[in-house]
Amino acid sequence: MDIAAVSREGAVLLGRNFAVDAHAPRPIRIVTHIHADHIVELERSYRESLLVVATEYTMELLEILGHYAPETKRVQMSYNKPIEMMGEIVTLLPARHIVGSAQVMVEGEEYRVGYTSDFKMPGTPPMERLDVLVIDATYGSPRLQRKWSDFEAMAALLSLVEEGLKYGPVEIYAYHGKIQEIMAELRIRKVREPFVTDLRGYKMAKVAERFYEVDLEPLLTRPEEGSSFVSFVHASRFDERRGKAMKILATGWELRAPVVRVKDGVYRVGFSDHATFKEIIEYVQEAMPKKVIVDAYRGTDTRITAKYIEKALNIPAESQPEL
Ligand SMILES: [Zn+2]
Repeated sequence: MDIAAVSREGAVLLGRNFAVDAHAPRPIRIVTHIHADHIVELERSYRESLLVVATEYTMELLEILGHYAPETKRVQMSYNKPIEMMGEIVTLLPARHIVGSAQVMVEGEEYRVGYTSDFKMPGTPPMERLDVLVIDATYGSPRLQRKWSDFEAMAALLSLVEEGLKYGPVEIYAYHGKIQEIMAELRIRKVREPFVTDLRGYKMAKVAERFYEVDLEPLLTRPEEGSSFVSFVHASRFDERRGKAMKILATGWELRAPVVRVKDGVYRVGFSDHATFKEIIEYVQEAMPKKVIVDAYRGTDTRITAKYIEKALNIPAESQPEL
């Protein structure tokens, strides 16, 4: 048996007992974070696995999204606190991605393997001395390289928001996780206007407040007519034709410039929660594992990533599963 692999169903198989981010017939399911492509067949794992493991933040967010792990199976882990399970030691390490995100490391007597899940650099400590590293490659080739950092994108977003707030409300559209990160970044950068969101967004913001250690002060109702506030809405509800407020869509797939004006009052900001191609290579270079598996179930151009790692870093690498 391989000590690490990615199954056709998208499960990252680590050691003997762990299936990460999709279901597999293994005793322990780990959830690295709440994004849809990382909670594949979760309800099935709730029924069939012995244990379901996640950080406390991810557990709470899963519940807010309606995924209730059975009381008897749930194991909440803190970052950097190894736990022994069925003869292997598992550790969840921080990953800079969204609230509650974790990397997973599994150690047996003769092996040490790890999975980054989604991450950005810097801010994600590379797992060192691994026999096999399974890495995410959302932007797996140089053609997908963004020409700016997420710090620059955030600065561009901030000036857009500040400009918009002079004239009235601003609407920000993004996915779960990114919304809370933007809320935290705006508060850290002293944006004081009220943040308005729906009930789900409100509950998620309360979890994010503890994770980022920032008061986000979300509100459920809009302040009175004529005042300035920022409302946060899920990206799936973005409609550039609706209403007069300034609208900003935060998307990882805007590769032209940090800010692209779609039309008057409507903007796309190229803000991603994933490592750029260069950041992926930087991670591998710092971790220097004996072997790399690039997750092809979730990534893009992962064969190119693997080839690049072999050529540039001289580390055996492959893309899995074969699709
Ligand atoms: Zn993600």
